Order: sequence, then C-alpha cells, then structure tokens
Amino acid sequence: MSIKDYKWNVAFKSLALAFISYTIIFVLYSIVEVTDKKSKFAFATELLDKQKQRLVYTSLFVNTVFHIDGVVLKKIYSESDKYGLDTYVYSLSGKGGKYEGNEEIVILSMIYAFGNMNSFIGNENSLIYYRSYESGGKIISFNDLGDFGVNQSMFSKERCQQYNLCSLYATKESLSDRLLVSSIYDDYRTGSKTITLSSPIIDNGKVIGDISTDIYFDISILADEASISSQTQGGMNYINVDYPQYPMGELSFRSSYVVDNKSTLVFELPITKLILDTAPIFLLSLAISLIATIHYMRYTIQKKMFSQVYEESNRDEMTGLCNRKVFSTPEFLSDTLNQTVAILAIDGNKLKQINDTYGHHCGDAAIKHIADAMKKVFRDSDYIVRTGGDEFLAILPGCPSPRVMELKEQLKKEVMRKKIRPHNLAVSVSVGIAFKRPEEDLEYALIAADENLYSDKADSRDASA
Ligand code: GH3
Ligand code: MG
Repeated sequence: MSIKDYKWNVAFKSLALAFISYTIIFVLYSIVEVTDKKSKFAFATELLDKQKQRLVYTSLFVNTVFHIDGVVLKKIYSESDKYGLDTYVYSLSGKGGKYEGNEEIVILSMIYAFGNMNSFIGNENSLIYYRSYESGGKIISFNDLGDFGVNQSMFSKERCQQYNLCSLYATKESLSDRLLVSSIYDDYRTGSKTITLSSPIIDNGKVIGDISTDIYFDISILADEASISSQTQGGMNYINVDYPQYPMGELSFRSSYVVDNKSTLVFELPITKLILDTAPIFLLSLAISLIATIHYMRYTIQKKMFSQVYEESNRDEMTGLCNRKVFSTPEFLSDTLNQTVAILAIDGNKLKQINDTYGHHCGDAAIKHIADAMKKVFRDSDYIVRTGGDEFLAILPGCPSPRVMELKEQLKKEVMRKKIRPHNLAVSVSVGIAFKRPEEDLEYALIAADENLYSDKADSRDASA
C-alpha cells in the first residue's frame, strides 16, 4: 500500500468509525433527551390541566349559586366564614374598598368552593383571583399582592382582546367550553411569562366577572434557552415553547397539549439542537477513531508483514514448495503426530547429466517441472517439500496405502507427460514409499522411504539398461 493510499485508508476508516459511534451516541442521547423533555412538558401541562378543571368547576358552582334559593345562599354565607380566607380588593382607586353588586356572593361562593380544594390557592406557580367588571373593574385576590395597582388599561378592550384576557370581550364561540385561554404575555406584577385561564360568571345573560388563574409558565424546566411565544393560526391560538435560535425548526420532535377549543400548547425540540449539543462528542469520537484506526492499521500491516516473512521463510524460492522448516510448524506437527502418514520420497533422475549436457538453467527447469507435477497430483492439504537439490518429499496425512500406490504412478506419468523446451527434454523421477504409524517417529519413516527410493531408482536404472 502506498503512503497516499494508506492516508486515504486511515481517513476513510476513522471517519466511518467516528460516524458509526457518533450515530449510536446521538440516537441514545436523543432518546434520553426527548423522553426527558417530553415528560417535563407533560408535567408542565399537568398543572395547566388541573388548574383548568378546578377553574371550570368553581365557575360552574358560582354560576349555579345565582339560581338557588335564599336558604341555601345563607348557608353558603355562614359556611364561607368558617374557612376564614382573607380577601384583598384592588380597584382603580387603590387597595381596599368594598364589594359592590354581585361581588360578595361570588367571592363567598368561591371561598365556599375552595374550602374543599384549598391546594388551589397559594400556589407559587399560579394566582387565583376574581376579575370583576362591575363598578369599573376590580381584582379580588386571596393573596396579598402588595402594592399592586389596578389601572384602566388592564380592563381596556384593547388589552383584553390583544391577549384574550377577559370573557367580557371574548366571542361566544370561544366561551362555549366556559374557558378562555389567553396568549402568552408578560405579567404586570411579576414580569413572568404568563397564561391566564378565565371562566366567566354570568348574571342575567351578562358577563359580570371572570374567575381567573394566572399560570406563571416555568419554561426553565424544559431548558434554559427555550422561549415561549403565542401565534394565531386559522382562529386557533398556539402557545409555542421552542428554540427559535436553532435552524431548521421544522425538523423537530413535537409534543402538544390541547388546552381548550381555541388553544393548543406546543413544544418543539429541534433536531439541530440535538446535533449541536452533541457536536463536541463527534469531534471527540473522530479523534479517538483516528488514533484507534492508526494503531489498528499499524498492527494489521505488521501482522501481514510478519506472516509474509514467516510464510516466505518456510518456502523454497525456486519452486514455491515448502522447505524443511515446515516440519517444525504447529500445523505440520498437529497433522502428523499420532496420525497415520504416507510418505513419498522423490528424486529427479539424472539431473547431473541434464545440467552437464544442456546447462544449469535446463536443470532448474527440470526441477520446477517436477515441482509443478507434484502440485498437480497431490492435494493442497498434503505437505509437498523440496528437501534440497532434486530431492522432494510428499507427506500425506491419513492417506490409505492403495491410494498412495496410485499417486506414485500418477506422479511418474505426470512428470513424463510433458517435455521440457527448447530441447524437448524428457524428465523422470524415482519414488520410494513408506508409512508412519501413529505411535512411530517420522524420522524412521523418512529413512524407510529413502531406502525404497533407492531401490526404485535401481529398478529404473536396470529397466533402462
Ligand atoms: P540420480 O538419477 O542417481 O538421482 O542422478 P542425479 O544426476 O540426479 O544425481 P543426484 O540426485 O545424486 O544429484 C542431484 C543433482 O542435481 C546434483 C546437481 O547437479 C543437481 N542439482 C541439485 N540442485 C540443483 C539445482 O538447484 N539446480 C540445478 N540445475 N541442478 C541441481
Ligand atoms: Mg537425482
């Protein structure tokens, strides 16, 4: 591999590794983050849902009171006293002041109702109060709002309609579920992002006030950078909790909660936020992958080089067959120890003569020719060894005797089948066979095979004489 190829290889592999590991981390992080944010969103909407239900129940109760008889009314008056809730009246003329019109019966009915739901009041995330439209506008609260001052604009049609704050100016349709949900706005008193839920009190078909709850929407539980905003679309009011600073907001994980028939709360967590949050992890995994890849590639190159050198040291250069070193390899030992092994000792006939007559290169060609014939006749799993000069060994683990005889003849034929160019030279071999039994040493079998080789050589000499 060239240096350039090596560099490309390292770059490609480390990028792929970094990408795969980052993808796994990203998916796990996203699952955890989305699950966490969604459950926090569900927690936030739970408060809204509870307040909504209590508000509507209370409003229904108060509205019912207008239609019941004097005896029951008196009972409510006297029982409300028992709960001992303080009330704080804020009007255009300042703190304090008296109840006017229906305000007293509404407030007492509210106290009566809250007597059975006291956790409704005094929650730090919300404020419940009565917004009276009688006598120019009043806020009657059960919490002391300090030096809070009511001003004209709080009851103005313009502000009421801008934020959907007052039932007095709301459409019939939006009040059909007895609930008006404001858009998100900055509260005068606390400066918090606030949603107001209002449920109207109606006397003789006229809205005389709203039982309202301000919910200070704590988005910090979703994330520090989240922002909250309102948006009207197709007559629906959407309160969005999202991250506008991140691009491609349309690719987001989304949760929504339908507050009422006109309002939906939507939470959007953009995928780009998750990607940017995990970007440092990508850089880290890239660095780790680069180091790991370089080390791994170095290791594989060294391993390859080592096995090449090892392989070459066991090979005969001229023929490509094994050399004697193969006898001490673990593979050879495990294939031959305690096994029946057939051994064929092979020697080229009259090699010296070929050398002397046709030259050394012809002798070389004859040796290669014998090696090729052996490769053809024996199996890849057999050990074919050039032990030196024109001498070879074929070691066949587990080969039965009749088959070895056949192979001997096949080899002789194969060697003689082709003549060597350019002199059309015929080459032949002599072969001696021996068997090693499992309990025997290979040495003895080799000596026996050699002896048989010489007798075979003598026979062939006699035959050609
Ligand atoms: P025999 O039929 O009795 O085997 O006679 P031979 O001439 O083949 O003699 P022997 O096997 O005893 O000797 C092997 C000869 O093979 C010796 C040498 O001249 C030749 N020889 C050995 N190694 C090489 C080699 O690598 N290249 C060449 N060209 N000749 C070799
Ligand atoms: Mg010879």
